[in-house]
Amino acid sequence: MAIGVNGEIIVGENKSWPVVDGRPTDEDALGSALDQAATYVLLGRRTLHEAGADPDRVSGEVVLITPRNTGLTPVLHRQSVDARIRRVQRLLNAVPDVSDIATSIPASVTFDQVADGSLPEAARLEAFAEVTDELGRVYEPANCLTSCGFAWACRQCVFAAADPALVGGTVARALPNIASLGRVAELGRGAPPSATEAPAAAPIERAGRLYDEVMAVNPGDGRRTA
Ligand code: SF4
Repeated sequence: MAIGVNGEIIVGENKSWPVVDGRPTDEDALGSALDQAATYVLLGRRTLHEAGADPDRVSGEVVLITPRNTGLTPVLHRQSVDARIRRVQRLLNAVPDVSDIATSIPASVTFDQVADGSLPEAARLEAFAEVTDELGRVYEPANCLTSCGFAWACRQCVFAAADPALVGGTVARALPNIASLGRVAELGRGAPPSATEAPAAAPIERAGRLYDEVMAVNPGDGRRTA
């Protein structure tokens, strides 16, 4: 939503979370709403600039409209998002150019076999795994499963490789340079780590020892397997 006030364009957002006694009930939701509004301001300014108009007509202050306390009375909050606009701008400037990425990919890497409906499903999936291995796959279940049409195929790939990414980004980030979940199990049983595995291996080994101690006290609750 945008409203015009004295020639100025002000971005506004309606939000359902209440502000109780002047404080938002959800600080994360407030941050997201302000980031969203900052992005709208930036896009609005670009649109005006491209149209030959003054981009500064879009105000760096935005308006949030939320319920007051626990009632249904709407209340306006005006807030500056200048710092957030600069951050969004920096992030957008850092995004690589799509044409640069496209020209950096070898001509032999194509989705031809993946898209060939006459091939058996297993062959198409294998071709998909080869292409995405080459291009790099950054599978994150929480994001990929809700937003990407390739999620099923990528999940098959990480499942086949027992890639730590299978269990989520938080776990995968805690396991740098650990090739597979099977290797995590080995390290948890005290296998000597390589130099690159060493930083992540120590907490894994400690967790494995703790697990064994607990299971020794409560036998029959579970088993640690590869
Ligand atoms: S599911 Fe989509 S976004 Fe996620 S890694 Fe695969 S191709 Fe990339």
